[in-house]
Amino acid sequence: MTRKEFITTSGLFGISLPFQSALKACSKDSDAPNLPGDFTGNVLIIGAGAAGMATAYLLQQLDIEYQILEADSSYGGRFRRTNDFTDFPIPLGAEWLHVSESELPAIVNDSAVQVTTVTQRYATTDTYGFYSNGTLTVEEAGAAINDYIDQKFIGSSWFDFFDEYIVPSIRNKMRFNTHIVSVDYSGDKVIASEANGNQYEADKIVLTVPLKILQLGEIGFSPSLPNNKQRAIANANIWGGIKIFLKFTEKFYPTFLEFDDSETNEGQRTYYDAAYGQNTTDNVLGLFAVGKQAEPYQNLSGDARRDYVLKELDSIFNGKASETFQDILVQNWNEQPFARAAYLADVASSSTSRIMAESVDDKLYFAGDAYTREDDWSAVHNAARSARDAVRELIR
Ligand SMILES: Cc1cc2nc3c(=O)[nH]c(=O)nc-3n(C[C@H](O)[C@H](O)[C@H](O)COP(=O)(O)OP(=O)(O)OC[C@H]3O[C@@H](n4cnc5c(N)ncnc54)[C@H](O)[C@@H]3O)c2cc1C
Repeated sequence: MTRKEFITTSGLFGISLPFQSALKACSKDSDAPNLPGDFTGNVLIIGAGAAGMATAYLLQQLDIEYQILEADSSYGGRFRRTNDFTDFPIPLGAEWLHVSESELPAIVNDSAVQVTTVTQRYATTDTYGFYSNGTLTVEEAGAAINDYIDQKFIGSSWFDFFDEYIVPSIRNKMRFNTHIVSVDYSGDKVIASEANGNQYEADKIVLTVPLKILQLGEIGFSPSLPNNKQRAIANANIWGGIKIFLKFTEKFYPTFLEFDDSETNEGQRTYYDAAYGQNTTDNVLGLFAVGKQAEPYQNLSGDARRDYVLKELDSIFNGKASETFQDILVQNWNEQPFARAAYLADVASSSTSRIMAESVDDKLYFAGDAYTREDDWSAVHNAARSARDAVRELIR
């Protein structure tokens, strides 16, 4: 099954919205882990994104020794955000919660902690625009929106949720600017090494680096990974991706704006009201594009890219974009050195993610948005769930 087929059979909202992840019926939201186990050794976690931090947090709860090695200068990975563009957090990668809000306490996994993060669903009065053959039609979303589960974080983000509830427990176990280039699991211990020769040793290792990093061969394994994993890595269909945010003095656009090519087997693209539900007077329009649909925006840079986007919007909104333009912010994930892409394509086969989730020799474990045991992947909630699965197996 592909993620796209999974989403379709889950029953989705009639119009196309980002990710089309109306997964109400299928979410295994309240899968809070119960994690007894006998393991008493130590663990290395490679990567401090959603999966790495969720793994660390669970090990911390279990009193198991661990260290996180992160190549970047801070944590967050593909759900980083900025507070510098406007007066609410702008998510540079993950933006929506694609499953029920009960997923947040499930990640916190502590009934004594009250999760106060606010998320908001879309409303029947929201507007949906469709631009095709030079004509824009805008209509109200209507009752069908009630089946659409995706939610915006209000005054917050995926990053802020982790920052508040997960990071305080694990902060002092994170080592930054530590770029792992090889993993040796041939002996009793597992050894992770940097290019400068620095070595880190543990009984087990949890790899959470993006699948694209493995596909590019940026981490060498000794012995080599099993053949089925090597094949899954080599053949994985991984989409590139970009997000662009534009600030305007007026809100001239609908809640969502889609095109004939907004949802194809090669990628997706959508403009959307990025300030939706926020306590702000700023008008911020977002563009989310992955796969082939991202390429026209990725192939340009600087002023040329800004002008391209404004021209596209001007032709739809009669020049309003250039007239009211204030500022632009771009995050091109293909250029982020420790991601190099967006995520495993929705049209990939679930066998990729399942094979990638398998552990090797009781020493090497995988957690992350492309290493799930589900028919769903490429989201923060999957990355966190995969961490639970990996920890469950690791402590067995
Ligand atoms: C444009 C875009 C939009 C998205 N929108 C959504 C959304 O709306 N909702 C949603 O739920 N999800 C969304 N996602 C997906 C979501 O961001 C990811 O699924 C999730 O953040 C992945 O978490 P992870 O821990 O698996 O990987 P990452 O967050 O990528 O973490 C991996 C970590 O490993 C580090 N690393 C890499 N190489 C090395 C190395 N050699 N040594 C040490 N460390 C290394 C990286 O720096 C990184 O911190 C989106 C992603 C993109 C790109």
